[in-house]
Amino acid sequence: MGKYKIVVTDDRYKNYEEEKKVFESIDAELVIGNCTAPDEVSEACRDADGILCNLAPMPQDVIESLERCKIISRYGVGYDNVDVKACTKKGIYVANVPDYCAEDVSDHALALLMGCIRKIARRDAQVREGRWNVGSEDPVYRACGKTFAFLGFGTIGRCLFRKIKGLNFSRVLVYDPYLDKDSISSLGAVKVEMEEALKDADYISIHMPLNDKTRGIIDKTAFSIMKKSAILINTSRGPIVDEDALIDALKSGKINSAGLDVHKSEPLEEDNPLKIIENCILTDHMGWYSEESMAELKRKAAENIKDVISGSKPKYAVNTIILSD
Ligand code: NAD
Repeated sequence: MGKYKIVVTDDRYKNYEEEKKVFESIDAELVIGNCTAPDEVSEACRDADGILCNLAPMPQDVIESLERCKIISRYGVGYDNVDVKACTKKGIYVANVPDYCAEDVSDHALALLMGCIRKIARRDAQVREGRWNVGSEDPVYRACGKTFAFLGFGTIGRCLFRKIKGLNFSRVLVYDPYLDKDSISSLGAVKVEMEEALKDADYISIHMPLNDKTRGIIDKTAFSIMKKSAILINTSRGPIVDEDALIDALKSGKINSAGLDVHKSEPLEEDNPLKIIENCILTDHMGWYSEESMAELKRKAAENIKDVISGSKPKYAVNTIILSD
């Protein structure tokens, strides 16, 4: 038995080698739980010094039942399953890992974009059906010289910006109300309002968070002002786009196509109409994933715990704890 007990609330990984490597130097023992209900979490974590959690619920009564815990570190960016207020009241740090997959999500957005521009999935299906020389019957348009727009320009948006530079777009527009004009233009892009981004862009990539202001922001009106050549890429969150309006825009040819990693409802329902629409590419909310990003996520989540057990603040704290002497 180690000096400290760290509990993983819900077991979603093949192994815990990354975490064990981090905990070696602090003599901590790792216990893997399989909790789905709050009382199971309380039971498994009552005497834990630190908790690594995935999707397990951590409401107020669970937090209040923890006897030794100093930190809850969430595998991922979001932490809406943890009652942060209750943790702060009890002197428990909550931490997350906000920066483990920008390379991967931006690769994925670029792959979806190129897949839509060059119609890769569609051509693949056509070749397998025995068709050849499809050419202008199903036209493809050159990327160079087109206009690209970012909706949201944070970590992932900027990572994608670095990658699209070689495509020689004529303009790169940014709609991000929280960034000033100069910081955007110093990077070589142009700050615009959302309407201008939607009206002028051939390619639109969504990288804003989902919240009350952004839910359904890409609606019927938004599609009505997009170009017919528009390709919409969404690797952020499904509900930012009004799915019915998107389906209508794809079916009616109001826009060219869409590349979607995230969806209104996940997993995508059996009878979701997007599944039979040809001018869209669908993936299973996998933008975050690569073997490297997963190892980074696990290592950084464990390091948050090591930080606290070693007497410091976690690198990615989401609350502030006033430590008494
Ligand atoms: P970030 O916080 O670094 O950047 C978000 C940007 O959006 C910020 O610059 C912010 O100013 C801007 N923004 C906020 N509200 C906005 C609004 N109303 N309109 C326009 N811009 C707005 O986040 P990030 O790391 O770049 O991640 C972006 C999103 O990607 C996350 O919110 C998450 O939903 C999604 N994501 C998806 C996956 C996946 O697997 N597909 C993985 C990680 C993250």
